[in-house]
Amino acid sequence: MRFDVLTLFPAMLEAVLGDSIIGRARAKGLVELNFIDIRDYTENKHRRVDDYPYSGGGGMLMEPQPVYNAYMSVAEGLSYKPLTIYMSPQGRVFDQHTASELAGEEHIILLCGHYEGIDQRVIDEIVDMELSIGDFVLTGGEIPAMAVIDAVSRLVPGVLAASTSYENESHYNGLLEYPQYTHPRQWHGREVPPILISGNHAKIEEWKREQSVINTLKKRPDMLKKAELTDKDRALIDKLNS
Ligand code: SAM
Repeated sequence: MRFDVLTLFPAMLEAVLGDSIIGRARAKGLVELNFIDIRDYTENKHRRVDDYPYSGGGGMLMEPQPVYNAYMSVAEGLSYKPLTIYMSPQGRVFDQHTASELAGEEHIILLCGHYEGIDQRVIDEIVDMELSIGDFVLTGGEIPAMAVIDAVSRLVPGVLAASTSYENESHYNGLLEYPQYTHPRQWHGREVPPILISGNHAKIEEWKREQSVINTLKKRPDMLKKAELTDKDRALIDKLNS
């Protein structure tokens, strides 16, 4: 899978996405990441990429030309249009479902704004989708783009050791994950739940499901409306609610 990120701060992305699991996925060729410096595509002799908005108000706006040329440096000559996403607080809120959808794409371009944002005309011309990482405003689209790349890349086959690493995780099946424990068995007077060392795999799976349902009910009851629940899950919820 390939991501091209159009940004004014490529070093920010390289610093974070060059390491750990995503860094290894890149080294193995499972995920290709290219960071394109929009400033390299300005036609302004002072390398300026922003200007005052016509609407007035504080702040600067990124001009359409350098953004478009940076985009064309990736898209020109391809026989298809890469899915082009503008990271924006105005976009659809990114979640695990969207991460799964995007993991099915071969090639994604992520556009990062800065300052007051980007001239609308280039957004209208190249962008297929706007994505937000939450209802708050950051200084730039780089942190949101890194969040999207991380969440999507870990779903690419081979990036994690096994797909079970994410299939049991929070949000994958509409529920939060069950609590997890490692060594030692006793810590600060707190014990690992005995079922987990019983060796009874069927009972352990049952416990995990129950704990997922309980965790979700306790922390994010809103998620239960959309989750795929079994009759057993529903009976447990009714019991806990009564
Ligand atoms: N003036 C814009 C508005 O009110 O919609 C906000 C611009 S923001 C200060 C600068 C850039 O940060 C945006 O162009 C966008 O790329 C990025 N950004 C800020 N918050 C974001 C969020 N919650 N999700 C995704 N991108 C965000």
